[in-house]
Amino acid sequence: MVRTRIAPSPTGSDLHIGNLYTALINWVWARKNNGQFIVRIEDTDRTRLVEGSEKNILNSLDSFGLTPDEGTRNGGPYAPYRQSERLNIYHEYTKELLANKHAYYCFCTQERLSILREQQQKEKKQPKYDRHCLSLTEREIAEKLNNKIPYVVRLRVPEGETTITDVIRGSITIQNNILDDQVLLKSDGYPTYHLAVVIDDHLMKITHIIRGEEWLSSTPKHVILYKAFGWELPIFAHSPILRNPDKSKLSKRKNPVWASWYLAQGYLPETVLNYFALMGWSHPQQKEIFSLEEFIQVFELKDLQPVGPVFDVTKLEWMNGMYIRTLKTEKVTIKIVEYEKKYNKREVDPILVEKTIPLIRERIKKLSDYWTLCSFFFQKPDSYEVNLTDKKEVLKDVTNEIDKVNTWNATSIGTHMEKIAQKHGLSNSAFFMMLRVAVTGKKISPPLNESMELLGKDVCSTRIKAFC
Ligand code: GLU
Repeated sequence: MVRTRIAPSPTGSDLHIGNLYTALINWVWARKNNGQFIVRIEDTDRTRLVEGSEKNILNSLDSFGLTPDEGTRNGGPYAPYRQSERLNIYHEYTKELLANKHAYYCFCTQERLSILREQQQKEKKQPKYDRHCLSLTEREIAEKLNNKIPYVVRLRVPEGETTITDVIRGSITIQNNILDDQVLLKSDGYPTYHLAVVIDDHLMKITHIIRGEEWLSSTPKHVILYKAFGWELPIFAHSPILRNPDKSKLSKRKNPVWASWYLAQGYLPETVLNYFALMGWSHPQQKEIFSLEEFIQVFELKDLQPVGPVFDVTKLEWMNGMYIRTLKTEKVTIKIVEYEKKYNKREVDPILVEKTIPLIRERIKKLSDYWTLCSFFFQKPDSYEVNLTDKKEVLKDVTNEIDKVNTWNATSIGTHMEKIAQKHGLSNSAFFMMLRVAVTGKKISPPLNESMELLGKDVCSTRIKAFC
C-alpha cells in the first residue's frame, strides 16, 4: 500500500507554489499506486504561525483538484492530522528516546549557547552543541527537573556514518560527526520539525516521503531517529526545487509564489498541473500537453531529474492559451463567467460571452485577459486611447453609412466602411484604426467588423455619434 503526504507549515498566507508542485507529485504517486495522499499540518513553530494559512492552503489544494484522502478536514484513521494536537504522542516517544539514551536533557541557557557559538566562530569551527549536558548524572537531571529549570531534549547523534537512499539522487553517505545534536523537544514543550516529522510519518504509515530538495540535509538526522526507534525506513525522494528563469531559487521578489495568485490571474488549474508535470520530468513521447490521467499513467518517480527546473511564467502563459483554445466554446464561457463573478464580482451575460469567444479564442491566454479584450461588448468604453475630436467629419459620414447597411453582418459592414475610407482618401489601416477606437476605445481589439456585427447597428451608431 502506497501512502504519500505533504506536510505544510501554516507559516505563509497560502500554499507556496513549490509545495503545490510537491503536492502534485505526491498525489499522482498515490493515485498511480491506488494509494492514499495525506495532508498533515506541521504547526509546531508557534512563532511563525500565520492566521488563516491552514485554511488557504487546504482551499488551494482543493481548487487544484489535489484534495487529500486524509487530513485535518476529512479526518482519517490516524487523526489528529495537526501536529499541535499530537503533543502527548511526541512526549511519549521522547521518553522512549531518553530511556534508551538516544536523547538527553539539555539545560543550557541561551546565553551559554551564544557564547559557545561565538567562540566556535572565532576558532573557525563548525557551530555545534558541545555536549555539555551529556555528562549530567541522573541525580543532577532529576534535581534540575524538580527545580523546573527550562530544558530541551537533544538527539544524541551516534558515532559512525549515515547513508540515505533517495530514489532520485541515489545513495548519499555522510559522517555523523558533522551533525549537531539536534534539539528534538523545545523548552515550550513542542517538538521540533525533525522529531515530529519522523514520528508522524511512521505512525501514519507513510511509505514514500516525497519532498523538496531543501529537506535533504535534514534526512540523515531523520534516518538516525528511525534507527533509534527501531522503525523501518520509508522510501525517500527529494524532488528538485523550482527555479526562476535566472536559476535563482523561486522567491517572492521574482515570481509570484502563492498558488492562489495563479488562479486569480486566470490560469487554469489543469494548465498549472500540466506545466508542473514537465518540471524535472519529460513525457516518454516528448509531449508537452497531456492530461493528468495520462501523467498518472506514464509517470515514474525514479525518472524525476534532480536538477532545478525553471519555472517560467511566460511559458505557463503560452500553455494556458493552448489549453483555452482546445476547450469547447461552452466550457470557456462557463470558466469566464465564473472567473468574472469570483474575482471581479462582475455578472457577465453568458449568452454574450459565448458569442464573443470565436473572436478572441486565438488571443486570450489567461481568463483575466477576457475583460481587457472584451469589456466594450458589455459597456461603452470609459476611455479612448486616441483623441478623435478632429475626426468629426469622417465619423459623421460613418454614421450615415451605417444607416445604409441593410444586412448587418461583418462582410457588408466592411464593404460599406471601406467606401468611407476611400471617400476621405484614407488608407484602410488609418481609417479602421480610428473606427476601432470610436467603437471599442482601443487601438487593438478583436476583429472590428465581426465585433460591430455582434454589438449591433444601434450600439455602433450611438457610440460613433457621440464624437460628431
Ligand atoms: N513542514 C515541512 C514544510 O514546511 C515539511 C517538510 C517535509 O515534507 O518533511 O514543508
